[in-house]
Amino acid sequence: MGLYHCEGIVLRTRNIGEADRIVTLFTKEKGKIEAVARGARRPRNRLVGVTQHFSYLRALIFTGKSLDQLSQGELIKSFAPLRADLTKMAYATWWSELLDVFLPLAEVNTEVFLFALAGLVVLEKTTDPMLVSRAFELRLLRYLGYEPVLDRCVHCQETNPPFWAGFAPTEGGMLCSVCAKEAGEKLIPVRPAAVQALTGLYQADLRAVARQPVDLALGQELGRLLFAFIQNRAEKPFKSLSFLQSLLAWPPSEGS
Ligand SMILES: [Zn+2]
Repeated sequence: MGLYHCEGIVLRTRNIGEADRIVTLFTKEKGKIEAVARGARRPRNRLVGVTQHFSYLRALIFTGKSLDQLSQGELIKSFAPLRADLTKMAYATWWSELLDVFLPLAEVNTEVFLFALAGLVVLEKTTDPMLVSRAFELRLLRYLGYEPVLDRCVHCQETNPPFWAGFAPTEGGMLCSVCAKEAGEKLIPVRPAAVQALTGLYQADLRAVARQPVDLALGQELGRLLFAFIQNRAEKPFKSLSFLQSLLAWPPSEGS
């Protein structure tokens, strides 16, 4: 049995037993961890506030034989506005699920932690998070080593082919028309302007993206490409994404 302090963001909670809650925390010091918060579903319990979705807390963790225990928690930032606004909550839940699905347990990743934290701060203040979310998704993919190939044909490596056929989610990149014929894969059509916008979003600071006017059609076009790619990489659909898309009255696309 040991004891350690850490700072973390609540990515997910699930109920266990009569009054307990298991929290998945993305911590700065230990990466993603799971800990049980005993009594956290009792209204007057001191762990109620710190185990809310997206809460950023300083935690004291007991390491147990099977499951660690959240012994104490002190709120650093509640991110309450992310729970008060349905759209923001849907985005924050989608980001949390992304982090939860792609981060392995107990692997320290300070860079991604700081990025996620900064992202939530921006999300809290943004009126329309669509493009901020596209930038977040892209940058997260890059941090995790799943970057989609956008600057060249993923097959023949040609950077300037006469025609682009589209984005191949299973290949993780753009295909030129010649390679697309050979591959015979189902492609997502992407305008060159959208590819350019994507490469721009890679570089951009999230705060700067938040200040840009949101181009709805572009945000959706980029989303179709990224969501197909992400769900292909994760080998599963994301519940939070279907919710987000239904909330935004996302037009149905082929295959989704
Ligand atoms: Zn090619």
